[in-house]
Amino acid sequence: MLKNKVAIVTGGTRGIGYAVVEKFLQNGATVVLFGSRQETVTKAIASLKEKNENWEVSGAWPTLTDADAMTAEISKIKDKYGRIDILVNNAGISDSVSIDKYTAEHFSKIMNLNVNAVMNGILPVVEIMKQQGGGCILNTSSMVSICGQPSGVAYPTSKYAVNGLTWSLARELGPFHIRVNAVAPGITRTDMVAALPKEMIQPLINRIPLRRMGEAEDVANAFLFLASDMASYVTGEILSVDGAMRS
Ligand code: NAD
Repeated sequence: MLKNKVAIVTGGTRGIGYAVVEKFLQNGATVVLFGSRQETVTKAIASLKEKNENWEVSGAWPTLTDADAMTAEISKIKDKYGRIDILVNNAGISDSVSIDKYTAEHFSKIMNLNVNAVMNGILPVVEIMKQQGGGCILNTSSMVSICGQPSGVAYPTSKYAVNGLTWSLARELGPFHIRVNAVAPGITRTDMVAALPKEMIQPLINRIPLRRMGEAEDVANAFLFLASDMASYVTGEILSVDGAMRS
């Protein structure tokens, strides 16, 4: 489904991002995964190569919140492969701090990675995609962008911002044949969820109509669809992958 496509996936070293990288590779894409550290990037690539040594996968670890570093890294990728067809802005951090313990710095840290870093990837990629006549930008939103959450206000705020930029850029970039969509996972079994207290998770699972947590592959399948030509008339969509839990 992605033969001859070149993709960048941020936060590709584990969890949902790793599953997206693997799914894209299985479907013929060349993938550059971004992680926060050389060590985790190297480990992720080694684990993928173990699954299939012919997969075209490489990695980088630019500081996502540094606009210049992102522009430089993305320009290197364009020079190497000649094009960038798909950008997946997936790296993100969660939050469950209650409002009485909040600081301005804490709020900024979440917004900086979950929103500003997304723009840092989009800005250089848009120029490249315009020049090559099209492309596909995908963002990782969240179920909580629709319904909020009882603590950790920065996280749903950041994901609502991701929805806003997805809807707006779909309209602005449509004339350039650049599609912009997001996937909004529900509770998905990754390290991010493992970090939350068990007493918080189980009651949530009981409320999911499909009565199970999502798997990273469930989410990766949605990314594959949106990245592929099967979604050639889909843009400005926030695709929920949440077992219908939206409250
Ligand atoms: P995870 O913690 O397993 O992975 C997060 C990824 O982001 C990792 O690859 C990590 O290296 C990267 N990352 C984190 N901080 C970074 C930084 N400062 N610089 C560079 N990279 C950084 O989490 P996940 O569950 O796979 O989350 C992936 C995305 O899915 C996030 O945007 C998250 O908000 C979203 N999401 C997750 C769930 C869930 O239940 N797991 C639900 C909804 C949305």
